[in-house]
Amino acid sequence: MLEISERGREYQERLNAFMDEFVYPAEPVYAEQMAAAASPHTQPQILEDLKAEAKKQGLWNLFHPHPEWGPGLTNLEYAPLAEITGRSLEIAPEAINCNAPDTGNMEVFTVFGTDEHKEKYLGPLLEGEIASAFAMTEPAVASSDATNVEMSMERTDDGFVLNGRKWFASNAMHPNCRVLIVMGKTDPTAEVHRQQSMLVVPIDAAGVTVVRNLPVYGYADREGHAEIIFENVLVPFKDILKGEGEGFAISQARLGPGRIHHCMRAIGAAERALELMVKRAESRVTFGEKLSNRANIQDWIAESRIEIDQARLLTLHAAYMMDKYGNKVAKNEIAEIKVVAPTMALKVIDRAVQVHGGGGVTEDFPLARMWAHMRTLRLADGPDEVHKRSIARNEIRKYRG
Ligand SMILES: Cc1cc2nc3c(=O)[nH]c(=O)nc-3n(C[C@H](O)[C@H](O)[C@H](O)COP(=O)(O)OP(=O)(O)OC[C@H]3O[C@@H](n4cnc5c(N)ncnc54)[C@H](O)[C@@H]3O)c2cc1C
Repeated sequence: MLEISERGREYQERLNAFMDEFVYPAEPVYAEQMAAAASPHTQPQILEDLKAEAKKQGLWNLFHPHPEWGPGLTNLEYAPLAEITGRSLEIAPEAINCNAPDTGNMEVFTVFGTDEHKEKYLGPLLEGEIASAFAMTEPAVASSDATNVEMSMERTDDGFVLNGRKWFASNAMHPNCRVLIVMGKTDPTAEVHRQQSMLVVPIDAAGVTVVRNLPVYGYADREGHAEIIFENVLVPFKDILKGEGEGFAISQARLGPGRIHHCMRAIGAAERALELMVKRAESRVTFGEKLSNRANIQDWIAESRIEIDQARLLTLHAAYMMDKYGNKVAKNEIAEIKVVAPTMALKVIDRAVQVHGGGGVTEDFPLARMWAHMRTLRLADGPDEVHKRSIARNEIRKYRG
């Protein structure tokens, strides 16, 4: 059932070769270029070089399910590829144009965008020429319940007028970010899931102010997580996606595939952490014995292998369900892995940090940053508790009279 096709395996081989030849050797160069940059929100040349190489090799837009825009891989074929890129989280996903949130936004433009949106935004996004952000979460309300979102999108004779404040718009600090997909309320009096709409807003539209970046555990991520104020931003009627009242439905459609991609990358990050843990344990000696000979450390290594393999199977199963029955039917499986994969990765990374001793919490090794990133995945695209709520409700429904 979970067998990967020949085409999928061939892409794995090619992507692994690309990682070995180009991405891993680029990691120190990337670190050097980032350290030399005046701002953390920069686009280092090495990344552009990698993008050009990936494009040349046809390792580009691998996520895109529609054959006219990418290779048209199934979720089951794409899962191991996203996992491979998770081994070098800061570089590899963007190098092959498969980084969040651009992937989700590209899917939204593909399915719900007008011809003009496709020409102006989807085309350049697919080429990796521009970046985009998705602005739903608001500081003033508990946004894990998206019906709480308050931004007003008032209909006037000239278009919608936006007022409100968003935060955590990932990618909005990226120097190439040109466009925001914004969720707000066009009709606060409508049925609760029909109040929201999504509008396409250029980041340089009059009245849009990017106030600040929100660092994550002190790390200023290159793409940034921005707080943005919207003051009387006029958006033409033509820039609504799908129609008034469709915002909630679009956000559900958008987040399904995005969630599974995050989980696949989390598995790759855990694999990299396990590799680092084992190599370190093999190379360090205390009290006359290699760390790798200690029973507790072998236990951590074994537990990590078991937990990674469990999470991978669950993720592949979710991918299979999405391919076979669609994202809606697979929503329970997607919720399960969204809880399992980041928590698993955090456990493995934490053990790897411990085996590295003091070095593990520094930036001399990738583990500390990896941990900070993975910790955010227990919140981003829905906190664990919200996914568990859906899983539990589904389970309870089976037995409720
Ligand atoms: C690094 C990062 C990147 C992000 N990127 C984006 C982005 O690009 N665009 C965007 O719009 N948003 C983004 N987010 C925001 C993210 O989606 C929200 O933080 C998340 O949905 C939770 O909303 P909230 O922060 O308002 O928490 P709240 O809604 O205030 O919830 C707080 C906590 O309450 C608990 N909780 C909630 N519901 C329940 C329940 N039913 N039962 C029990 N406990 C519950 C959970 O523990 C939850 O963490 C990002 C967040 C982070 C950290």
